[in-house]
Amino acid sequence: MIETIDLHKSYGKTQILKACNLVLPEGKIIALIGPNGAGKSTLLSLLSRVLGERTGEIYLDGKELKQWHTKELAQKLAYLQQSNQYGVHLTVKELVAFGRYPYNRGRQTVADARIIEKAIRKVSLGELKERSIHELSGGQLQRVYLAMVLAQETDYILLDEPLNNLDLKHATQLMRNLTDLVQSEKKTVVIVLHDINYAARYAEYIVAMKNGQVLRSGTTAEIIQEDLLSELYELPIKLVQVEDSYFCYPFT
Ligand code: ADP
Ligand code: MG
Repeated sequence: MIETIDLHKSYGKTQILKACNLVLPEGKIIALIGPNGAGKSTLLSLLSRVLGERTGEIYLDGKELKQWHTKELAQKLAYLQQSNQYGVHLTVKELVAFGRYPYNRGRQTVADARIIEKAIRKVSLGELKERSIHELSGGQLQRVYLAMVLAQETDYILLDEPLNNLDLKHATQLMRNLTDLVQSEKKTVVIVLHDINYAARYAEYIVAMKNGQVLRSGTTAEIIQEDLLSELYELPIKLVQVEDSYFCYPFT
């Protein structure tokens, strides 16, 4: 479980995140939604400890995040930033292999190689595994990063807008993969989603953020509501039910 207590983050005098109190349930897909600049990425980088400076508390499985040893944390929690750029020349396989670093410090074992292969297969990049990452499309590259995170084999997976650059098929495949991971391996996925329809369809719990604050958090049924979403995005939003889930669209 991830818990935050009165979490604040400022840059200089500007408060970016204010009074953030959350209890994120385990073993679910948890979506962070909200307009640009709401503080979603800031929250995720605090939860991953990539941003260390803050006031307030963060507990990961009952232990303050500051108390975790770096190696132990890297085996517990993986984090994929919103935009990733590796300038160096690497193949797909080499980049995914970084996911094993917290376990092997760069000395790959047979077991590591197997995990790397499995992660590459999971994102359907088997045919491109020897390819340089510079020769990939944006969407393919996004999937390589996801494979790297999967190879890290952590209980918690934090993903910042991983659907960016993905076409409909690969975006859906990614969300289904995450659903499988959560169901079969009891992982906890915290994911920033731009498209609220993916949140409505795949998330079980949603944190709606606006102006550096949690506007509301709750189950998907509690958050995917016309009035709440309209307030969140400052736009009239309507819902239509399609089979067992809701589709949200702006109505102006
Ligand atoms: P979101 O991911 O919801 O779009 P962010 O967490 O990236 O929002 O940003 C929240 C706010 O914090 C924005 O107003 C942004 O300009 C500001 N911000 C983000 N990073 C920095 C930084 N390093 N220095 C100053 N302001 C920042
Ligand atoms: Mg962001």
